[in-house]
Amino acid sequence: MRILPVPVLEDNYAYLLVDKHGSAAAVDPAEPQKVLDAARQEGLELSTVLTTHKHWDHAGGNEKMKQLCPGITVIGGINDHVQGATREVRDGERLSLGDIAVTCIETPGHTNGHICFLCREEGSTAAVFTGDTLFVGGCGRIFSGTPEQMYVSLNKKLATLPPETQAYCGHEYSVKNLEFAAYVDPDNPAVKEKLAWAKAQRAQGKPTIPSSIGAELATNPYLRCGEPALRASAGRAADARGAASVLGALRARKDRWGIDAALTSAVLAVARWVPSLARLLGAEKTFNPFLRCDRPALQKFAGAKDPVDVLAAVRRAKDNF
Ligand SMILES: [Zn+2]
Repeated sequence: MRILPVPVLEDNYAYLLVDKHGSAAAVDPAEPQKVLDAARQEGLELSTVLTTHKHWDHAGGNEKMKQLCPGITVIGGINDHVQGATREVRDGERLSLGDIAVTCIETPGHTNGHICFLCREEGSTAAVFTGDTLFVGGCGRIFSGTPEQMYVSLNKKLATLPPETQAYCGHEYSVKNLEFAAYVDPDNPAVKEKLAWAKAQRAQGKPTIPSSIGAELATNPYLRCGEPALRASAGRAADARGAASVLGALRARKDRWGIDAALTSAVLAVARWVPSLARLLGAEKTFNPFLRCDRPALQKFAGAKDPVDVLAAVRRAKDNF
């Protein structure tokens, strides 16, 4: 079994999946021409498209693939209404691509009918295409599902695959994900090591896929929700409600992480570097809570020390006020 990544769009990965006799499928060919060019270079003819989920940057090339490869089978999850699908699959359904046995694993959370494709061929290490459910060091945004669904998809379905299973995800998000992992799991040396490696790979223009289930169990915060460090980062309320709520709290924090950090540093930069503005801001600084995130009263209100967390908590309180 061979798997060839084809970078498409801004940061997506499509893949070619090939059995030992040359039977071939494309996974998420969002830019059909690019994927077909890569297939032609390898002398491959595609019989099948495997679609992980309905979003345009994964399924958006399906109709064009059908035009360019008449008769091609397009697979998609039955609960995702995938564009162009000619065969809809359910959880646990098995397909074959030549000698490769493909098991469809429904993993709701990012979308309702997201499918991960587990591929096995004798003589090769198993591989799983995880789309936008499991990333290197992260997981997809919870769009149409719930944290509980995402928890089950990640921790009961993907994390229980054999640790050597190679994981091929839908986006090159590894550095950002691992930076967040280092933030919420600060004493984990495996995260630091993987982050340094991922940065070096990207600096050389190289991809960071595949990962393995074993590597993700050691580094991915969403597969480590039971660990004390992650529970602490998720906050006390999440801790009391169990592992799925830890996952939900971490993922929600990741959603606003970049925004909070940018906002806080912008406010601090303005206050610090522009003296006249700083004078104008002098009055603001005496009563504007968002400029007082380092003060004990605000820290106490937010139940957090880090000014980024304090700002986020105060802003959330204002939203609900
Ligand atoms: Zn998506």
